Amino acid sequence: MTTPSPLVLATGNAGKVDELRALLSDLNRTLLPASELDVPLTVTEDAETLTGNARKKARAYHDHTGHAALADDTGLEVAALDGGPGVHTARFAGADATPEDNKQKLLTVMDGVDDRRARFRTVVALLDADGTAHTFEGRCEGTITTAPHGDGGFGYDPLFRPDGYDQTFAEMPAETKNETSHRREALDALRAFLSRQTPEPGP
Ligand code: IMP
Repeated sequence: MTTPSPLVLATGNAGKVDELRALLSDLNRTLLPASELDVPLTVTEDAETLTGNARKKARAYHDHTGHAALADDTGLEVAALDGGPGVHTARFAGADATPEDNKQKLLTVMDGVDDRRARFRTVVALLDADGTAHTFEGRCEGTITTAPHGDGGFGYDPLFRPDGYDQTFAEMPAETKNETSHRREALDALRAFLSRQTPEPGP
């Protein structure tokens, strides 16, 4: 029996790595986070779409390591901001913005706004070892809170309350976020694709 080749997780975001590890734990693959590579890599996320950035990151790590690579690019799409910050979510408060800066900016621009509907949208790109790209999308609808709540998760989690829950992503256990999140939906699509690629052994 051959051992499946490693899958490089093409992200330097520790919060994403934790979630990807949990969500991909049933995949029979060795996951290799970017932080464990001998030679680190920086990828500029300058594409105009989430799909473009996800593909760019996965392609860079695939070419760098020769292994299959998986990248996730995520945007927060706020109805009152005409779908923004979208692809600019990581740099909402400026090129060198910290997560704190970004959350503060979101609270400021949403101050007094009644329509607080928003969604997270994630595009996951998988680059096979042979360099073929596949993309998968996941969404999670919710609302932007008027103040931060909770200290779990990462990024904008303290400000995002998914529909059907009375807690923000940062207040709920990681397992609950992983049952309902945009990332979960995208990785379910990836898993369905992989299971179609690997037929069950015959009788
Ligand atoms: P990127 O996909 O790494 O470019 O992340 C875009 C921005 O969204 C960054 O500011 C992340 O911290 C944030 N982000 C990505 N995924 C999540 C999430 O699941 N919850 C909250 N914030 C996130």
